Amino acid sequence: MKYAFANRVKHLKSSAVRDILKVVNQGNVISFAGGLPDDDLFPIEGIREAFSSAFASGKKSLQYIETEGYAPLRELLLERMKRKGIERSSINEVLLTTGSQQAIDLFARVMFDRGDVILTENPTYLAALQVFQSYEAKIIPVMSDEHGMLPDDLEYKMKKYKPKCVYVVPTFSNPAGKVWSLERRQKLLQLAQKKHVVIFEDDPYGDIQFNKDEVYTPIAALDDGNHVLYTSTFSKTAVPALRTGWIAGPNQILRIMSQAKQANDLHSNSLSHQALYHLCRNFDLDGHINNLITVYQSRMKLMLQHLQSLESLGVKYIEPKGGMFFWIELDESINTTELLQTAVQHGVAYVPGAPFYVDEPKQNTMRLNFTHSTPEKINEGMEKLTKVFQIHLQSV
Ligand code: PMP
Repeated sequence: MKYAFANRVKHLKSSAVRDILKVVNQGNVISFAGGLPDDDLFPIEGIREAFSSAFASGKKSLQYIETEGYAPLRELLLERMKRKGIERSSINEVLLTTGSQQAIDLFARVMFDRGDVILTENPTYLAALQVFQSYEAKIIPVMSDEHGMLPDDLEYKMKKYKPKCVYVVPTFSNPAGKVWSLERRQKLLQLAQKKHVVIFEDDPYGDIQFNKDEVYTPIAALDDGNHVLYTSTFSKTAVPALRTGWIAGPNQILRIMSQAKQANDLHSNSLSHQALYHLCRNFDLDGHINNLITVYQSRMKLMLQHLQSLESLGVKYIEPKGGMFFWIELDESINTTELLQTAVQHGVAYVPGAPFYVDEPKQNTMRLNFTHSTPEKINEGMEKLTKVFQIHLQSV
Protein backbone atom coordinates (compact mmCIF):
# COMPACT_ATOMS: atom_id res chain seq x y z
CA MET A 1 0.00 0.00 0.00
CA LYS A 2 1.14 3.54 -0.71
CA TYR A 3 0.96 5.51 2.53
CA ALA A 4 0.05 9.17 2.37
CA PHE A 5 2.50 10.87 4.72
CA ALA A 6 2.36 14.51 5.71
CA ASN A 7 4.40 16.82 3.53
CA ARG A 8 6.75 17.72 6.35
CA VAL A 9 8.18 14.18 6.58
CA LYS A 10 10.07 15.04 3.41
CA HIS A 11 12.32 17.07 5.69
CA LEU A 12 13.07 14.14 8.01
CA LYS A 13 16.42 12.60 7.22
CA SER A 14 18.19 9.64 8.70
CA SER A 15 21.42 10.55 10.49
CA ALA A 16 24.45 9.70 8.40
CA VAL A 17 26.31 8.81 11.59
CA ARG A 18 23.64 6.35 12.70
CA ASP A 19 23.63 4.79 9.24
CA ILE A 20 27.41 4.36 9.38
CA LEU A 21 27.20 2.88 12.87
CA LYS A 22 24.79 0.22 11.64
CA VAL A 23 27.35 -0.95 9.07
CA VAL A 24 30.32 -0.60 11.37
CA ASN A 25 28.73 -2.49 14.24
CA GLN A 26 28.54 -5.57 12.07
CA GLY A 27 31.80 -7.45 11.90
CA ASN A 28 35.21 -6.88 13.32
CA VAL A 29 35.74 -3.19 12.74
CA ILE A 30 37.38 -0.92 15.32
CA SER A 31 35.11 2.07 15.40
CA PHE A 32 36.14 5.64 16.14
CA ALA A 33 32.84 6.66 14.57
CA GLY A 34 30.22 6.87 17.33
CA GLY A 35 30.19 9.56 19.99
CA LEU A 36 29.93 7.01 22.75
CA PRO A 37 31.17 7.10 26.32
CA ASP A 38 33.02 3.96 27.47
CA ASP A 39 30.53 1.49 28.95
CA ASP A 40 33.28 -0.12 31.06
CA LEU A 41 33.34 3.13 33.04
CA PHE A 42 29.60 3.31 33.68
CA PRO A 43 28.85 3.66 37.41
CA ILE A 44 26.73 0.51 37.40
CA GLU A 45 26.69 -0.08 41.17
CA GLY A 46 25.97 3.57 41.88
CA ILE A 47 23.07 3.50 39.45
CA ARG A 48 21.70 0.25 40.86
CA GLU A 49 21.76 1.74 44.36
CA ALA A 50 20.26 5.00 43.10
CA PHE A 51 17.31 3.09 41.61
CA SER A 52 16.88 1.15 44.89
CA SER A 53 16.74 4.46 46.75
CA ALA A 54 14.17 5.75 44.24
CA PHE A 55 12.01 2.64 44.76
CA ALA A 56 12.33 3.04 48.52
CA SER A 57 9.77 5.83 48.37
CA GLY A 58 7.29 3.18 47.21
CA LYS A 59 4.33 3.66 44.92
CA LYS A 60 4.87 7.42 44.78
CA SER A 61 8.01 6.85 42.76
CA LEU A 62 5.95 5.27 39.98
CA GLN A 63 3.20 7.84 39.54
CA TYR A 64 2.80 10.48 36.80
CA ILE A 65 4.53 13.73 37.66
CA GLU A 66 4.49 17.29 36.32
CA THR A 67 5.72 17.84 32.77
CA GLU A 68 8.72 19.90 33.90
CA GLY A 69 10.19 16.86 35.67
CA TYR A 70 11.08 15.74 39.21
CA ALA A 71 11.40 18.91 41.26
CA PRO A 72 14.26 17.84 43.59
CA LEU A 73 16.44 17.06 40.57
CA ARG A 74 15.65 20.47 39.10
CA GLU A 75 16.66 22.06 42.45
CA LEU A 76 19.88 20.08 42.36
CA LEU A 77 20.60 21.20 38.81
CA LEU A 78 20.19 24.81 39.89
CA GLU A 79 23.04 24.18 42.35
CA ARG A 80 25.20 22.41 39.80
CA MET A 81 24.71 25.14 37.19
CA LYS A 82 25.50 27.80 39.78
CA ARG A 83 28.98 26.29 40.11
CA LYS A 84 29.49 27.19 36.43
CA GLY A 85 28.20 30.70 37.02
CA ILE A 86 24.75 30.07 35.56
CA GLU A 87 22.21 31.64 37.91
CA ARG A 88 18.56 30.81 37.44
CA SER A 89 16.12 32.12 40.01
CA SER A 90 13.95 29.02 40.53
CA ILE A 91 13.11 25.57 39.23
CA ASN A 92 10.54 27.24 36.97
CA GLU A 93 13.53 28.07 34.83
CA VAL A 94 14.61 24.43 34.44
CA LEU A 95 12.84 21.83 32.31
CA LEU A 96 13.93 18.18 32.37
CA THR A 97 13.96 16.61 28.93
CA THR A 98 14.49 13.21 27.34
CA GLY A 99 18.15 13.87 26.68
CA SER A 100 19.29 17.26 25.48
CA GLN A 101 18.22 16.06 22.05
CA GLN A 102 14.62 16.61 23.11
CA ALA A 103 15.48 20.08 24.39
CA ILE A 104 16.70 20.96 20.89
CA ASP A 105 13.55 19.50 19.37
CA LEU A 106 11.12 21.26 21.72
CA PHE A 107 12.91 24.55 21.24
CA ALA A 108 12.72 24.24 17.45
CA ARG A 109 9.09 23.19 17.63
CA VAL A 110 8.05 26.32 19.51
CA MET A 111 10.34 28.75 17.67
CA PHE A 112 10.28 28.00 13.97
CA ASP A 113 7.74 28.64 11.32
CA ARG A 114 8.76 27.53 7.86
CA GLY A 115 11.64 29.65 6.58
CA ASP A 116 12.58 31.19 9.95
CA VAL A 117 16.31 31.60 10.18
CA ILE A 118 18.74 30.00 12.61
CA LEU A 119 22.48 30.68 12.49
CA THR A 120 24.85 27.83 13.28
CA GLU A 121 28.51 26.96 13.18
CA ASN A 122 29.71 25.04 10.15
CA PRO A 123 30.34 22.17 10.80
CA THR A 124 27.97 21.62 13.70
CA TYR A 125 26.06 18.91 15.55
CA LEU A 126 24.41 16.80 12.91
CA ALA A 127 21.32 15.81 14.90
CA ALA A 128 20.57 19.46 15.66
CA LEU A 129 20.63 20.17 11.93
CA GLN A 130 18.21 17.27 11.47
CA VAL A 131 15.84 18.85 13.98
CA PHE A 132 16.00 22.33 12.48
CA GLN A 133 15.43 20.89 9.00
CA SER A 134 12.44 18.88 10.19
CA TYR A 135 10.75 22.13 11.26
CA GLU A 136 11.64 23.71 7.92
CA ALA A 137 13.88 26.35 9.45
CA LYS A 138 16.38 28.03 7.17
CA ILE A 139 19.83 27.21 8.48
CA ILE A 140 22.51 29.78 7.73
CA PRO A 141 26.09 28.83 8.57
CA VAL A 142 28.44 31.41 10.07
CA MET A 143 32.15 31.30 9.29
CA SER A 144 34.41 30.39 12.18
CA ASP A 145 37.99 29.67 13.15
CA GLU A 146 39.43 27.75 16.10
CA HIS A 147 38.24 30.46 18.55
CA GLY A 148 34.57 30.45 17.53
CA MET A 149 32.33 32.29 15.09
CA LEU A 150 33.98 35.16 13.21
CA PRO A 151 32.43 38.36 14.60
CA ASP A 152 32.29 40.15 11.24
CA ASP A 153 30.49 37.34 9.49
CA LEU A 154 28.19 36.87 12.47
CA GLU A 155 27.28 40.53 12.52
CA TYR A 156 26.78 40.60 8.76
CA LYS A 157 24.51 37.53 8.83
CA MET A 158 22.53 38.80 11.80
CA LYS A 159 21.83 41.98 9.87
CA LYS A 160 21.14 40.26 6.56
CA TYR A 161 19.04 37.28 7.68
CA LYS A 162 17.42 38.55 10.91
CA PRO A 163 17.65 35.14 12.59
CA LYS A 164 15.40 34.07 15.43
CA CYS A 165 18.25 32.33 17.12
CA VAL A 166 21.84 31.15 17.04
CA TYR A 167 22.70 27.53 17.88
CA VAL A 168 26.19 26.93 19.28
CA VAL A 169 28.24 24.23 21.01
CA PRO A 170 30.98 26.51 22.34
CA THR A 171 32.74 24.11 24.72
CA PHE A 172 34.40 21.01 23.22
CA SER A 173 32.14 21.03 20.21
CA ASN A 174 30.79 18.11 18.28
CA PRO A 175 32.25 17.48 15.76
CA ALA A 176 35.15 19.97 15.74
CA GLY A 177 36.24 19.42 19.38
CA LYS A 178 37.01 23.11 19.84
CA VAL A 179 36.51 25.66 22.59
CA TRP A 180 35.38 29.20 21.94
CA SER A 181 37.45 32.01 23.42
CA LEU A 182 35.83 34.27 26.01
CA GLU A 183 35.97 37.21 23.59
CA ARG A 184 33.96 35.34 20.95
CA ARG A 185 31.41 34.24 23.56
CA GLN A 186 31.04 37.84 24.71
CA LYS A 187 30.78 39.12 21.16
CA LEU A 188 28.02 36.66 20.25
CA LEU A 189 26.11 37.56 23.40
CA GLN A 190 26.53 41.27 22.82
CA LEU A 191 25.17 40.97 19.27
CA ALA A 192 22.31 38.72 20.38
CA GLN A 193 21.35 41.18 23.11
CA LYS A 194 21.48 44.09 20.69
CA LYS A 195 19.40 42.33 18.03
CA HIS A 196 17.03 40.50 20.44
CA VAL A 197 18.09 37.11 19.21
CA VAL A 198 18.02 33.98 21.39
CA ILE A 199 21.22 31.95 21.80
CA PHE A 200 20.75 28.21 22.18
CA GLU A 201 23.87 26.97 24.01
CA ASP A 202 24.28 23.21 23.78
CA ASP A 203 26.76 21.96 26.37
CA PRO A 204 26.84 18.17 26.66
CA TYR A 205 30.62 17.94 26.98
CA GLY A 206 31.53 20.89 29.23
CA ASP A 207 32.25 18.67 32.26
CA ILE A 208 34.77 16.55 30.36
CA GLN A 209 37.45 19.21 30.70
CA PHE A 210 41.09 18.09 30.65
CA ASN A 211 42.89 21.12 32.05
CA LYS A 212 41.32 22.03 35.37
CA ASP A 213 43.09 25.41 35.52
CA GLU A 214 41.37 26.80 32.47
CA VAL A 215 37.94 28.40 32.70
CA TYR A 216 35.46 28.22 29.85
CA THR A 217 32.59 30.35 31.02
CA PRO A 218 29.25 29.25 29.54
CA ILE A 219 27.60 31.99 27.49
CA ALA A 220 24.58 31.53 29.77
CA ALA A 221 26.76 32.63 32.70
CA LEU A 222 27.61 35.91 30.95
CA ASP A 223 23.99 36.76 30.15
CA ASP A 224 21.44 38.86 32.03
CA GLY A 225 19.14 35.82 32.04
CA ASN A 226 17.01 36.75 29.02
CA HIS A 227 18.92 35.73 25.91
CA VAL A 228 20.42 32.31 26.45
CA LEU A 229 18.85 28.89 26.66
CA TYR A 230 21.36 26.46 28.10
CA THR A 231 21.04 22.70 27.69
CA SER A 232 23.14 19.90 29.09
CA THR A 233 22.75 16.20 29.81
CA PHE A 234 23.65 13.28 32.06
CA SER A 235 24.42 11.18 28.97
CA LYS A 236 28.16 11.83 28.99
CA THR A 237 28.76 12.08 32.75
CA ALA A 238 26.45 9.34 34.07
CA VAL A 239 24.88 7.15 31.33
CA PRO A 240 22.96 7.84 28.12
CA ALA A 241 20.33 5.15 28.81
CA LEU A 242 18.60 7.24 31.51
CA ARG A 243 17.81 9.71 28.72
CA THR A 244 17.93 12.70 31.00
CA GLY A 245 18.92 16.16 29.94
CA TRP A 246 17.73 19.58 30.94
CA ILE A 247 17.26 23.05 29.61
CA ALA A 248 17.52 26.26 31.62
CA GLY A 249 16.42 29.68 30.49
CA PRO A 250 13.75 32.35 30.65
CA ASN A 251 10.48 30.95 31.99
CA GLN A 252 8.56 32.64 29.16
CA ILE A 253 10.21 30.26 26.69
CA LEU A 254 10.33 27.19 28.93
CA ARG A 255 6.61 27.50 29.68
CA ILE A 256 5.78 27.17 26.00
CA MET A 257 8.31 24.38 25.54
CA SER A 258 6.71 22.60 28.45
CA GLN A 259 3.31 22.81 26.74
CA ALA A 260 4.88 21.30 23.62
CA LYS A 261 6.36 18.58 25.81
CA GLN A 262 2.93 17.83 27.31
CA ALA A 263 1.71 17.09 23.80
CA ASN A 264 4.83 15.10 23.10
CA ASP A 265 5.31 12.75 26.07
CA LEU A 266 3.56 14.23 29.17
CA HIS A 267 6.88 14.07 31.03
CA SER A 268 10.24 12.34 30.76
CA ASN A 269 11.04 9.15 32.67
CA SER A 270 10.59 10.22 36.28
CA LEU A 271 12.20 7.09 37.71
CA SER A 272 15.39 8.12 35.91
CA HIS A 273 15.03 11.59 37.45
CA GLN A 274 14.70 10.17 40.94
CA ALA A 275 17.62 7.79 40.42
CA LEU A 276 19.79 10.62 39.12
CA TYR A 277 18.83 12.72 42.11
CA HIS A 278 20.04 9.96 44.43
CA LEU A 279 23.12 9.40 42.27
CA CYS A 280 24.09 13.04 42.65
CA ARG A 281 23.33 13.12 46.38
CA ASN A 282 24.71 9.78 47.55
CA PHE A 283 27.29 8.75 44.99
CA ASP A 284 30.36 10.81 44.26
CA LEU A 285 29.35 11.89 40.73
CA ASP A 286 32.05 14.57 40.65
CA GLY A 287 34.67 11.98 41.62
CA HIS A 288 33.33 9.76 38.89
CA ILE A 289 33.57 12.61 36.35
CA ASN A 290 37.18 13.22 37.45
CA ASN A 291 37.93 9.59 36.79
CA LEU A 292 36.34 9.83 33.32
CA ILE A 293 38.47 12.89 32.62
CA THR A 294 41.68 11.06 33.58
CA VAL A 295 40.89 8.03 31.44
CA TYR A 296 39.58 10.01 28.45
CA GLN A 297 42.50 12.42 28.53
CA SER A 298 45.01 9.56 28.48
CA ARG A 299 43.16 8.05 25.48
CA MET A 300 43.16 11.40 23.73
CA LYS A 301 46.93 11.66 24.31
CA LEU A 302 47.44 8.18 22.90
CA MET A 303 45.49 9.00 19.76
CA LEU A 304 47.41 12.27 19.57
CA GLN A 305 50.73 10.38 19.44
CA HIS A 306 49.51 8.46 16.40
CA LEU A 307 48.25 11.63 14.76
CA GLN A 308 51.55 13.41 15.39
CA SER A 309 53.36 10.75 13.41
CA LEU A 310 50.93 11.37 10.54
CA GLU A 311 51.68 15.08 10.26
CA SER A 312 54.26 14.38 7.57
CA LEU A 313 51.38 13.10 5.41
CA GLY A 314 49.62 16.43 5.78
CA VAL A 315 47.19 15.27 8.49
CA LYS A 316 45.98 18.33 10.43
CA TYR A 317 44.18 18.43 13.78
CA ILE A 318 43.91 20.48 16.96
CA GLU A 319 44.56 18.83 20.32
CA PRO A 320 41.14 18.79 22.07
CA LYS A 321 40.96 20.39 25.51
CA GLY A 322 38.05 18.18 26.49
CA GLY A 323 35.05 16.36 25.13
CA MET A 324 35.23 13.26 22.99
CA PHE A 325 36.52 14.10 19.51
CA PHE A 326 39.43 14.84 17.24
CA TRP A 327 38.55 16.73 14.07
CA ILE A 328 40.93 15.82 11.25
CA GLU A 329 41.66 17.61 8.01
CA LEU A 330 43.45 15.80 5.21
CA ASP A 331 44.77 16.98 1.88
CA GLU A 332 42.00 18.55 -0.20
CA SER A 333 42.24 15.84 -2.83
CA ILE A 334 40.97 13.23 -0.35
CA ASN A 335 37.26 12.50 -0.02
CA THR A 336 36.75 10.85 3.38
CA THR A 337 33.28 9.54 2.45
CA GLU A 338 34.85 7.56 -0.38
CA LEU A 339 37.84 6.59 1.77
CA LEU A 340 35.58 5.10 4.47
CA GLN A 341 34.96 1.93 2.51
CA THR A 342 38.71 1.27 2.27
CA ALA A 343 39.10 2.05 5.97
CA VAL A 344 36.35 -0.43 6.87
CA GLN A 345 38.03 -3.04 4.68
CA HIS A 346 41.18 -2.42 6.74
CA GLY A 347 39.10 -2.88 9.92
CA VAL A 348 38.69 0.70 11.16
CA ALA A 349 35.90 3.27 10.92
CA TYR A 350 35.46 7.00 11.42
CA VAL A 351 32.73 9.49 10.58
CA PRO A 352 33.31 11.51 7.40
CA GLY A 353 33.03 15.23 8.07
CA ALA A 354 30.63 16.12 5.26
CA PRO A 355 27.27 15.41 7.01
CA PHE A 356 28.14 17.89 9.78
CA TYR A 357 28.15 20.79 7.34
CA VAL A 358 25.14 22.95 6.57
CA ASP A 359 26.55 23.59 3.12
CA GLU A 360 29.83 23.56 1.24
CA PRO A 361 31.09 20.47 3.07
CA LYS A 362 34.81 19.98 3.35
CA GLN A 363 35.04 16.46 1.96
CA ASN A 364 38.58 16.06 3.33
CA THR A 365 37.52 16.08 7.00
CA MET A 366 36.66 13.37 9.51
CA ARG A 367 35.74 12.98 13.17
CA LEU A 368 37.50 10.49 15.43
CA ASN A 369 36.11 9.53 18.83
CA PHE A 370 38.72 8.72 21.48
CA THR A 371 36.52 7.86 24.49
CA HIS A 372 34.92 4.57 23.55
CA SER A 373 37.93 2.43 22.63
CA THR A 374 40.43 0.90 25.05
CA PRO A 375 44.11 1.92 24.66
CA GLU A 376 44.77 -1.41 22.93
CA LYS A 377 41.97 -0.77 20.44
CA ILE A 378 43.13 2.82 19.91
CA ASN A 379 46.62 1.54 19.06
CA GLU A 380 45.28 -1.18 16.81
CA GLY A 381 42.72 1.09 15.10
CA MET A 382 45.18 3.94 14.57
CA GLU A 383 47.72 1.55 13.08
CA LYS A 384 45.07 0.42 10.61
CA LEU A 385 44.10 4.02 9.86
CA THR A 386 47.78 4.91 9.40
CA LYS A 387 48.06 2.18 6.78
CA VAL A 388 45.02 3.58 4.95
CA PHE A 389 46.49 7.10 5.09
CA GLN A 390 49.90 5.87 3.94
CA ILE A 391 48.34 4.25 0.87
CA HIS A 392 46.16 7.20 -0.03
CA LEU A 393 48.09 10.21 1.16
CA GLN A 394 51.61 9.33 0.11
CA SER A 395 50.94 10.17 -3.50
CA VAL A 396 49.51 13.57 -2.49
N1 PMP B 1 24.10 17.93 21.64
C1 PMP B 1 25.29 17.48 21.21
C2 PMP B 1 26.28 18.46 20.69
C3 PMP B 1 25.59 16.11 21.26
O1 PMP B 1 26.78 15.70 20.82
C4 PMP B 1 24.62 15.21 21.77
C5 PMP B 1 24.89 13.73 21.85
N2 PMP B 1 25.57 13.16 20.86
C6 PMP B 1 23.39 15.73 22.19
C7 PMP B 1 23.17 17.10 22.12
C8 PMP B 1 22.28 14.85 22.69
O2 PMP B 1 22.60 14.12 23.82
P1 PMP B 1 21.53 13.42 24.71
O3 PMP B 1 20.20 13.47 24.01
O4 PMP B 1 22.02 12.03 24.91
O5 PMP B 1 21.48 14.20 25.98
